[in-house]
Amino acid sequence: SRSDELIIKFKELIRQNGLEEEIAVVQTGCHGLCEAGPIVIVDPEGTFYSRVTLEDVEEIVKEHLVKGRVVERLVYQGEGASTHYSLNDTVFYKSQKRIALRNCGVINPEEIDEYIGTGGYEALGKVLTTMTPDEVIEEILESGLRGRGGAGFPTGMKWRFASGNRGKVQKYVCCNADEGDPGAFMDRSVLEGDPHVVLEAMAIAGYAIGADQGYIYVRAEYPIAVERLNIAIKQAREYGLLGNDIFGTGFNFDIGLRLGAGAFVCGEETALMTSIEGNRGEPRPRPPFPAVKGLFESPTILNNVETYANIPQIIINGADWYKNIGTDKSKGTKVFALGGKINNTGLVEVPMGTSLRTVIEEIGGGVPNGKKFKAAQTGGPSGGCIPAEHLDVPMDYEHLAEIGSIMGSGGLIVMDEDACMVDIAKFYLEFTVDESCGKCTPCRVGTKRMLEILDKITAGEGTMEDIDRLEDLANKIKTTALCGLGQTAPNPVLSTIHFFREEYEAHVRDHK
Ligand code: SF4
Repeated sequence: SRSDELIIKFKELIRQNGLEEEIAVVQTGCHGLCEAGPIVIVDPEGTFYSRVTLEDVEEIVKEHLVKGRVVERLVYQGEGASTHYSLNDTVFYKSQKRIALRNCGVINPEEIDEYIGTGGYEALGKVLTTMTPDEVIEEILESGLRGRGGAGFPTGMKWRFASGNRGKVQKYVCCNADEGDPGAFMDRSVLEGDPHVVLEAMAIAGYAIGADQGYIYVRAEYPIAVERLNIAIKQAREYGLLGNDIFGTGFNFDIGLRLGAGAFVCGEETALMTSIEGNRGEPRPRPPFPAVKGLFESPTILNNVETYANIPQIIINGADWYKNIGTDKSKGTKVFALGGKINNTGLVEVPMGTSLRTVIEEIGGGVPNGKKFKAAQTGGPSGGCIPAEHLDVPMDYEHLAEIGSIMGSGGLIVMDEDACMVDIAKFYLEFTVDESCGKCTPCRVGTKRMLEILDKITAGEGTMEDIDRLEDLANKIKTTALCGLGQTAPNPVLSTIHFFREEYEAHVRDHK
């Protein structure tokens, strides 16, 4: 990658200038501000250089590192940055609260000592030496943390359901790192930038429910994440933080990686477990729920990467600290992947309840080229669109559901005035038709029929009745499909018909 080349060149020039004893080049994970990458930060002053090219490296070394003079032309020019040079002063970062992303872009993810240096594995030490498993579950429950993968189920409750018969039956702790929503990359960023936080959280979960084995199911399309997880697992074992008798407490816990082969449905919890078992990744009917009968028919908990990334901080700072962030029913923060027609594409982490307007206009820097905001899609192919009239909606589970969207895993695609909402709905439906596993008829056949009607409408051959049929079919699939993929697949169509019905009608009318 370009960053790798920059690192090599920095090291080479620092050596040539005899500075290798004083200046270290540290590779970190993502800073979140994709739009400004590659980013170079010079510490301790925190100077924030953006869009650095290979040609710029020599100037930074000669001017800044040798002579102590900031290279003004390379300093990030985003709002709030020009006079201070520091990343945390920019509008993009100032309005954020980074809990899940706290170490991303800060530490070297391939060095366990750097994670430990920021308080890493302290939470595991705390639970193993000062808390009972039930107290751990109580703390997570009390914090109000809910699953960040989409459904928003209370994490502590899930753990409690799986906590019976500790020590008497085999149990598993799984991590869903099969991030598949188009436009979502928050889990990837955590895995690449702070892999130990996931390992530590899984070990805490293992202690809480009485499991000694964990599995991380990670997409094979994330090779850097896979590599860093492998390094992190190896280092944690060497430090005695995974394996037998952790912290000399008699607690045993280890973690294995399983690579997903790119099937979107394997993000569904039962399909994911079926895939780990070595079978075709198809969902199974629930009940029984995984907490009772999950992986290899044993009690299992599954949380996603972002959910786990919150756990050590909750243990260290306490449930009261966490539940003071966010809204009444949606506690803590949420990471959103900002993409589409927005100036500051990237990853942002904000307290739950932050308005969509703040995320788009303030942190995201607004819509480029003077165009008007038309809608934002949250929750990817399972979610819905939010039109301009709802720009002030607080981004939390309840408010998004009220307007027909969902939080989902946090993909947030912004569309400007030029977007055709029927095309957007078609894009997402094509995705789910492709990704349907085919096990149940409503999803396998129903989504195809929906797509045929949409094709007809966009080809100018549809009728007004087709729009009603589309809506009717969508509602039937929602209530009859076997798993979450099918139950939510109609959402983009339903929400665009709800908010932008006139665009569907225009496709029908204008071609007559
Ligand atoms: Fe498979 Fe779709 Fe049915 Fe889920 S809803 S089991 S993805 S066919």
